[in-house]
Amino acid sequence: LRERLAGAQGGFGRGLLALLSRDRLDEDTWESIEDLLLTADIGVAPTQQVVDNLRTRLRVDGAEAGDPRAVLRDELIKLVDPTMDRRLQVTGADGKPGVVLVVGVNGAGKTTTVGKIARILVAEDHSVTLGAADTFRAAAVEQLATWGERVGVEVIRGPEGTDPASVAFEAVKHGVETSIDTVIVDTAGRLQNKQGLMDELGKVKRVIEKQAPVTEVLLVLDATTGQNGLIQARVFSEVVDVTGIVLTKLDGSAKGGIVVAVQRELGVPVKLVGLGEGPDDLAPFDAGAFVDALLG
Ligand code: GDP
Repeated sequence: LRERLAGAQGGFGRGLLALLSRDRLDEDTWESIEDLLLTADIGVAPTQQVVDNLRTRLRVDGAEAGDPRAVLRDELIKLVDPTMDRRLQVTGADGKPGVVLVVGVNGAGKTTTVGKIARILVAEDHSVTLGAADTFRAAAVEQLATWGERVGVEVIRGPEGTDPASVAFEAVKHGVETSIDTVIVDTAGRLQNKQGLMDELGKVKRVIEKQAPVTEVLLVLDATTGQNGLIQARVFSEVVDVTGIVLTKLDGSAKGGIVVAVQRELGVPVKLVGLGEGPDDLAPFDAGAFVDALLG
């Protein structure tokens, strides 16, 4: 995973390092550094902040100019914020299952992510049930059923066009009755309008909470969508209380700076990153490992 991340993101990190390692850090160099940070989708304000910090810490005229790699590593880790709690809350209290609600627009990678999370939890000896509440896309239900078979967990589904809330209800009911640790609910991502989304996800959440606590609301975002992804993220965060972000397709995007931008935008941590289409291509996000992959 680390190699794949370095492959996609490494150009950015190594490019920065090469610029900062120049003998003379002139204005042109600082401008190039700023451009690189902006191109990676870090955002304007954070870019300014990190450039200011780097300038202060790497003044070449000063006697105590730091080692560029160490200083850059330090600044990038600060930017990603290593203090955020990125653990997934997957179990409930009082013998009830934890419920992980997975939201995001179609195509972001929700269904794939649900399958991958199930696989991780099963490997950690958790019992898992999946709810196929993306009932508007028959393909999504089939896709989730395939993941269920692959991972060896039960998938609760309804006929095409069933009310998503009723599938979510049945999935959690099954989880409660069979003392499952975690129910993961895939949802529909039709971003038709904010009110529609609010009504739909609100109802899904309410029917779940009649039976067991929603312990995580994971927003799945496609890292390749840039600013557009950030706008979607804002809409979802206004509709449900997002507790964590899953950034998918980081393998296919050189714009790892979106990690920084989306955390700032929503004030919640990136908890997982998707690095491919395969079952093992999902990793817990770690600020230090991420920055190390960037710097190569
Ligand atoms: P959904 O509509 O949000 O449920 O999205 P899907 O789970 O169906 O995923 C849409 C497409 O993105 C599929 O072709 C997935 O295989 C692909 N995909 C999902 N996550 C990743 C990832 O981390 N990396 C790559 N390269 N592709 C991904």
